[in-house]
Amino acid sequence: MQKDKMIAITIHRGSHEIGGSCVELCAGDTRIILDIGMPLVNPDGSAFNMREYKGLSGVELVNKAVLPPVEGLYSWQKPSIDAILISHAHQDHYGLLNYVHPDIPVHMSEGTQKLLGISALFSGAIKPPEKSIFFSWPSQFQIGAFTITPHLVDHSSFSSFAFEIEAEDKRIFYSGDFRTHGYIGKALKILYERVQPGVDALLMEGTMLGRDAAPALSEQKLSEKAAEICKQSDKAILIYQAGQNISRAVSFYKAAKKSRRLFIPDVYTAYVLDELSHCTGGEKLPYPGKSGFDDVRVWYPHRLTNRLNKIDRMDIPYRYQPRKMTKEDMAANLDKMMLFIRPGMEEDLKHIEGLSGSTLIYSLWEGYKSRGRTQQFLDAIKSMGVNIITLHSSGHADIPSLKQMANTLQPKKIIPIHTFNPDNYASLFDYPVEMGTTFSL
Ligand SMILES: [Zn+2]
Repeated sequence: MQKDKMIAITIHRGSHEIGGSCVELCAGDTRIILDIGMPLVNPDGSAFNMREYKGLSGVELVNKAVLPPVEGLYSWQKPSIDAILISHAHQDHYGLLNYVHPDIPVHMSEGTQKLLGISALFSGAIKPPEKSIFFSWPSQFQIGAFTITPHLVDHSSFSSFAFEIEAEDKRIFYSGDFRTHGYIGKALKILYERVQPGVDALLMEGTMLGRDAAPALSEQKLSEKAAEICKQSDKAILIYQAGQNISRAVSFYKAAKKSRRLFIPDVYTAYVLDELSHCTGGEKLPYPGKSGFDDVRVWYPHRLTNRLNKIDRMDIPYRYQPRKMTKEDMAANLDKMMLFIRPGMEEDLKHIEGLSGSTLIYSLWEGYKSRGRTQQFLDAIKSMGVNIITLHSSGHADIPSLKQMANTLQPKKIIPIHTFNPDNYASLFDYPVEMGTTFSL
């Protein structure tokens, strides 16, 4: 008897929360996993902290629902998952990879792999898997019954991808995290030209649902606003942003250039920019020592150099030595500098003379401000006489962009994912919305 031709979809996590995304697809004998993320919240809504589970075995972590219950995925099981696809280098999409069986191939972009490697180097986070396989764009590859087409999207992580997945004459589109208001918004235009409308299921992120409904500020506009802030100050401009948010670093670099300030990333951010500038799509990124980028310098906060020393990677700071700004150089050039800072650098900042009256641009999600470490850091900055201005734009699609995706792909059904508000989908989109965790197509 012929087997039923169908694709089974199981959302192990992410159907009604942001973070910890994990989707299983099964067609014929092939099973694949889309993202294997660390949760951001506990079931009661409080912030998730992996340290609370330190010392527990993998089996115990499955029992406690920290790890999704996927048979044949983990290192202590007989592997029966054919492959894992990672959409981008955010922890809530890859953070549980270290529990996965080492024989299972993991597909990701080269940029994602580089970012995983850099996180491992600087913070001891999980190393990229040995069996990483790069996909490029545009390209297509086969895993058993599935044909996968990765599509480049704009997001706050470099080299992020959505996946178009076909099997058994059905098509699924997994948006991953995306937006349209960044610098590579045109990637989405190309995607919409390539993907045939009428997909059988659209698994679409909805991070912004239930948050601010206003259209998002574009990176370009954000950069212009930052330039204005720079021009209005005759003291230092300090930047607090995610070190791996490359689009944001570019926005601030443009603002520094416009206001004739030196762009001074810390050695970690400098290394991120340098490494990614050698990946496809990163060729234009600024980093210290790059020819034609004399306005890019670097600084060496204590904790970072200590870390690099400890892991025997002092070659990294030495690489940028000719571009180094000392604290004395900074004190003499306060009105000409844009300096990247983050928690853990308070002591270094205290040794820069004349910092009082400077401005910190806080460029992260507002919600982090009330969290312990961030709050302490911002309080310490304030106590140095530094003013704090918030200037941020989300890495996620606003509502018009979500509608645009739905209207362009014309799905037979929309399945909410990466959202705290799946209930809001039905009223927003003109296509059937199906909620839940298991589906068959
Ligand atoms: Zn993300």
